Amino acid sequence: MYWMDMTEQEIADAVGAFGVPKFRVRQVTEWLRKGVRPAEMHNLPKDLREQLSTIPFGGATIYQKRVSSKDGTIKYLFELEDGNLVEGVLMRYSYGNTVCLSTQVGCNMGCKFCASTLEGCVRSLRPGEMLSFIAEIERDEPPAEGKPRTVTNIVLMGSGEPLDNYDNVVTFLRRVTSEQGPNISARNISLSTCGIVPKIYRLIEDAPHVTLSISLHAHSNEVRSALMPVNRAYPIEQVLEAAKAYADRTGRRVVFEYALIGGTNDAEADADALAARLKGMLCHVNLIPLNPVKERGLNGVTRAHAQQFREWLEKRHISATVRREMGADIEGACGQLRRRVLNEIHG
Ligand code: SAH
Repeated sequence: MYWMDMTEQEIADAVGAFGVPKFRVRQVTEWLRKGVRPAEMHNLPKDLREQLSTIPFGGATIYQKRVSSKDGTIKYLFELEDGNLVEGVLMRYSYGNTVCLSTQVGCNMGCKFCASTLEGCVRSLRPGEMLSFIAEIERDEPPAEGKPRTVTNIVLMGSGEPLDNYDNVVTFLRRVTSEQGPNISARNISLSTCGIVPKIYRLIEDAPHVTLSISLHAHSNEVRSALMPVNRAYPIEQVLEAAKAYADRTGRRVVFEYALIGGTNDAEADADALAARLKGMLCHVNLIPLNPVKERGLNGVTRAHAQQFREWLEKRHISATVRREMGADIEGACGQLRRRVLNEIHG
């Protein structure tokens, strides 16, 4: 058991076992909910801090930090207590700051364009680790004057497939939205999935206020299966049905991510077929010019071409935007920084 993963009851039991007065439980709980380690719980006696430190904390520390000189985006590489490294990104927008968090070390989904999945999934992250990323970022980048927090929005779009780590991710969502925790509104949280259909239906029940993003990337099963092995288990028709169920149930639009890959899915005929698939659905398409990953051999497109594709969709009444490119100079794309650092360490 790790401090950062404990429920209130588990904290009470663990602290109580050290034979201290009850009010200490509340103090420890408050610190833990802020992601603070026992050694830094300043209002506790030294002996108790030492006793508490005998139980592993279960959080993350900042291993490396890179700041984009273009847009202030910060890419963090976090170190977990077992030595694994995992990425997180802080992006600054006019409406607030968004963090992009990982949910697994690596990924098992095998998408052909993605750097995170090249060596499979090492392990899933625990809720306390994901919460700790936020605490560490806020400690590293304190809120602007007069602002209660640095992080106002979260996207689960780092490495890993959140719905392949379902229980931990749902626990994280409950805790990150709770008043005792970071208290971030579920409406400011997006979860992105490659389309594990049965888990999408469960998510609609467990976290209906979170924005659902689905990585679509193709309009045909042929192309989608070639890019995303998960499509062989859950073909596009089932993914779109689940998306429709989400929109019907929550009244909120689904976001479809569509990475434009030169010569693969970026022609006007593709826009036409995509629009036909999405016709009448409460949705929005987020176009991402592919960030070419050296090991993957797929081509990107120019931003001008991405805008052209957006116009093709809008002409067909599908709302779409081209994702702003953030942190391109600091290996902002999924899994790229971790890979480079691992290559440097292991050669
Ligand atoms: N596993 C989840 C979330 C992680 S990836 C998912 O599949 O949605 C976040 C987004 O980045 C996904 O849409 C993913 O397909 C996309 N992505 C991954 N590698 C990319 C690359 N090289 N260029 C552009 N988008 C990429």
